[in-house]
Amino acid sequence: MDSCVPLPMEPKVLQEITEKAKDYALMHGICMRRKDAFDRDALHFAPFLLLPSAFPKGEFERACQLQTILNELMHKVAHDREFLIATLAQTVKVDEFTRRLVDIYNTVAQEGVAQPLSLGLLRSDLMLNVGPCDGPAFCCWHQVEINTIASGFGWLGPASGLIHRSDYFLCCGKGVIQQVEFNSIASSFGGITSYLYKAHKFVLGELGRKDLLDRIPENNSLSGLSGAMLEAHKIYNQPKAVILFIVEDVTYNICDQKFHEFKIREMNPDVFVERKTLTEVANEGHLDNQKRLFVDGKEIAVIYFRCGYSPDQYPSEREWDARLMMERSMAIKSPSIHYHLAGTKKVQQELALPGTLERFCDDPEKIKSIKSIFTGLYTLDKGEEGDKSVAMAMKNPERFVLKPQREGGGNNTYGDDIPPFLESIKDSEERNAYILMDRILPPKTMNYVVRPGHEKAELKEVISELGIFGYVIGDQNRIISNHQVGHMLRTKLSHVNEGGVAAGLGALDSVFLV
Ligand code: ADP
Ligand code: MG
Ligand code: MG
Repeated sequence: MDSCVPLPMEPKVLQEITEKAKDYALMHGICMRRKDAFDRDALHFAPFLLLPSAFPKGEFERACQLQTILNELMHKVAHDREFLIATLAQTVKVDEFTRRLVDIYNTVAQEGVAQPLSLGLLRSDLMLNVGPCDGPAFCCWHQVEINTIASGFGWLGPASGLIHRSDYFLCCGKGVIQQVEFNSIASSFGGITSYLYKAHKFVLGELGRKDLLDRIPENNSLSGLSGAMLEAHKIYNQPKAVILFIVEDVTYNICDQKFHEFKIREMNPDVFVERKTLTEVANEGHLDNQKRLFVDGKEIAVIYFRCGYSPDQYPSEREWDARLMMERSMAIKSPSIHYHLAGTKKVQQELALPGTLERFCDDPEKIKSIKSIFTGLYTLDKGEEGDKSVAMAMKNPERFVLKPQREGGGNNTYGDDIPPFLESIKDSEERNAYILMDRILPPKTMNYVVRPGHEKAELKEVISELGIFGYVIGDQNRIISNHQVGHMLRTKLSHVNEGGVAAGLGALDSVFLV
């Protein structure tokens, strides 16, 4: 797809605008703590794209519109006990972490749930899929399409000397949105990206392209997500109770979290925010005889987990005890344990099976729209179906991604790494811990990656992943609130499998509608 301004930029202009953009980022909290040289009191800007990346308007709008339908689906999935238990039955035999989550789910169900309401702060992640190239006809079609779109404004064309690789054209189609995954715990960057789109407007303005400003959509995920927590706080109906953020021992993505805290305080100065690690909750927390949760003497109305999605975040039984105590409590949790389970990759795979969506939705139009974003998802469970998936992946590994039940990036296996990995697990039950998914092939674009410690922005071939934020408040029987509240874009080098922003391979971005 095309860039919003002609590329490459003139070196002097590039240098000046990069410095301005860096300063804008630093001064607006588009920042993180350093991993390489940790200093609690210092920040550097988060890696970002100098220009907002092109995204087709129709698909962006479709993604936004789909969010409330997906929210509703996930809410129903989270409240279907029979479905969750059956879906995860094979997984829990071999995946200790998921088993412990299910144990908590079962324990609390047996004791009786003190807080029937859940707050789902959700993010559906999507990529445009153009698929593999099918030959010259396909390429021609895309080339025509690009030229048509590009006619109105600067386009990086062959004449610029930059595009001489034919495979660039092969992947240049606009594509359709396909779901990468659905996050129900600790979905991040709603805070920072609510400021980043303004940085991108600033950049385009400085480049003299104010005519393009309305092509960058507003992004209010921060106020949307913070407002959702305040709404849950109000429902809890104890004005003095606080909102508790569960955080890591050391938080690198501190600005994103702090933006939420500050926004909550700004929107309602009577509501306070506390930050605690799981270990601190274990040491300082207790339930009273009505199952009200108190931590460090303060009653907790709402719990927002920014930690607790990964086994290493539970270094001892104490942290598991804390999670169970919170789950037992009357506090409204984001996520409550069933929402956490509904966000597993195994559930995503099960939902893609024929007939499953119909269990949760009786509107054929909605089912059709949800199915339209599902890519191929396959069980790896021991058995006939799973064997078929294994054989398929062995034959064409480049077409697939293999995923465990983990969050936070860096856990998947791709392409050539899949066969030896499958070979090592295919005869044991261990393979039930994984699922297989079609690899989505997004269109490649060119953009400048700006990274801390790098004086110059680097022009790279990149691909993007769109995240749409939404929230739901409700219980088993009803949904009180269901909204789409914003979006985020992450962009990574096109040849990289996973582009963690913190790892320096991915970068924060904004949508430029084409
Ligand atoms: P996590 O919960 O750890 O974020 P994801 O399923 O989002 O797990 O995978 C991490 C990253 O791997 C994604 O952000 C994306 O870049 C890449 N990825 C995951 N699934 C696919 C897929 N089906 N096709 C292409 N890339 C994928
Ligand atoms: Mg995830
Ligand atoms: Mg992800």
